Amino acid sequence: MRILGCELLLFVVNTRLEKKFKVKIDPKKCKGCGLCVEVCPKNVLEMSKKSNNQGYFSAQVVNEKNCVGCGNCYMICPEGICIKIYKK
Ligand code: SF4
Ligand code: SF4
Repeated sequence: MRILGCELLLFVVNTRLEKKFKVKIDPKKCKGCGLCVEVCPKNVLEMSKKSNNQGYFSAQVVNEKNCVGCGNCYMICPEGICIKIYKK
């Protein structure tokens, strides 16, 4: 019982410390290279099936709750201005 109590306490603490992130992609600036999708360790992003105003198939956010805020996506983006990550 004592072990279960400790596990429950750890679960509560971890849940409270868990950080949530907001991922924003500007589809008008994206050139559709797909690098951000490749480097995301949590499969937060995928390529859209619709083209943007410049004819590129831009990246889009599909699993925002999985984002761990590592920054791989915006660091690798060659456009440098498409992706923004905010702490919620
Ligand atoms: S910050 Fe990391 S986990 Fe979040 S979308 Fe970008 S690459 Fe994926
Ligand atoms: S890395 Fe930048 S340009 Fe390339 S698909 Fe992702 S958001 Fe678009």
